Amino acid sequence: MKPTVQQLTDWDKHYVWHAFTQMACYDPLIIESAEGCELIDIEGRRLLDGVSSMWCNVHGHQHPQIDAAIQEQLGKVAHVTNLGCSNSTAIRLAKRLAELTPGDLDHSFFCSDGASALEVAIKLAFQYWHQCENPQPQKTTYIGFEDAYHGDTIGTISVGGVDRFNAVFKPLMFPVHRLPIPDRRVPDEAMACEHHLRILEETLAQHHETIAAVVIEPLVLGAAGMIVQPEGYLRGVRELTHKYNVLMIADEVAVGVGRTGMMFACNQEEVVPDILCLGKGLSGGYLPMSAAIASTAIWNAYLGKYSEAKQLCHGHTFGGNPLGCAAALATLEIFETEGTLQQLPAKIARIAEHLTRLQNHPHVGDVRQCGMIAAVELVKDRTTGEHFPWTERHGNQVCQYAQEHGVWIRPLGDVLVIMPPLAVSLPQIDQLCEVIADGIEHVTSSKASS
Ligand SMILES: *Cc1c(COP(=O)(O)O)cnc(C)c1O
Repeated sequence: MKPTVQQLTDWDKHYVWHAFTQMACYDPLIIESAEGCELIDIEGRRLLDGVSSMWCNVHGHQHPQIDAAIQEQLGKVAHVTNLGCSNSTAIRLAKRLAELTPGDLDHSFFCSDGASALEVAIKLAFQYWHQCENPQPQKTTYIGFEDAYHGDTIGTISVGGVDRFNAVFKPLMFPVHRLPIPDRRVPDEAMACEHHLRILEETLAQHHETIAAVVIEPLVLGAAGMIVQPEGYLRGVRELTHKYNVLMIADEVAVGVGRTGMMFACNQEEVVPDILCLGKGLSGGYLPMSAAIASTAIWNAYLGKYSEAKQLCHGHTFGGNPLGCAAALATLEIFETEGTLQQLPAKIARIAEHLTRLQNHPHVGDVRQCGMIAAVELVKDRTTGEHFPWTERHGNQVCQYAQEHGVWIRPLGDVLVIMPPLAVSLPQIDQLCEVIADGIEHVTSSKASS
């Protein structure tokens, strides 16, 4: 017998351990299906998917071309290992990625999650220095950024810096050089790029001999609160890493695959990293699928006779899974058949118009945008920048309001995230932003009167 809504709710609260969720006060939203940019819950309510199902959906849900690609693959084989074995779909995807990515990023190591792609990148960089032409095995550490997010495994939380998530795990983490967030507002818009590059150069000048790689989220630090970097910073990081002979790992798990308005965020500043990591949107957000894509120099350092033991001893059972690869190939194809990138400027401009209006609200401290990624930061006092106490969960209250009014969004603390699928329509952007504006008004005015 089909379970009732009440049963599903009870079972969800008891049997499913949800990510980043206090299960003692968890109130489920249970999705049964989805169409285009809308989610449909078990009671048939439609919700606009305002954050692309955790930043990963690209062309909308149930896209006929992606669904067909997965079904066609399912008619052949659902899984093939990539440990010394291959499948035609993974091969075609790797070739397509080599064509699309800048420079000589030609060699895809496939994994299942963003975090596992970052783990591979971290290890690839480490072992590279042992076996490149001019070995420098003393290069054993990394430069990361405060509040950067690269996943939740031990390696990725070591390189990332979200203290409020990870304080308890400190004893398990390896040490890295952690630089302040390269925020375009610090110290001010005119000086930010120079200021943050100077900090990076100081660290590199002092420690480059022991640094394997800089790990960076290009253009936008996502989980940190959609913090936008100053223009020119990414290019500067590439120049400095070249100057000091340090590798650059670009974590494009959130910002890649069209999200910033170009296929990859690195394209925006004509940067070619040594390793590019993709995840989330790579499969259109349909299946667990990620990749660490390495340059030819890195690839070459791993070639040799079997007895030299230069191969990377790392693998994931589901890496290169043909269903995921089929979804990814279809996702990349749709960019061409639908002209996805060509349609973005109008959508980006529409989001910007809404942000300009929101900016004037007395409880909005900052609005930021990079392509199809936008954020609205709530503050208690706009003049001093004072935040609301985090326990009051204002961001969450606005999202609650939005949900009651047909829009699903998920905040980062008091930062409201606007990150719909790239396939979102202009009227849907209006709906999303208007509900957020109403929600902010509702939550902050009821506070003022209480
Ligand atoms: C989400 C995210 C990750 C982790 O990806 P998972 O698939 O959740 O492991 C890594 N880096 C960035 C920038 C992300 O936004």
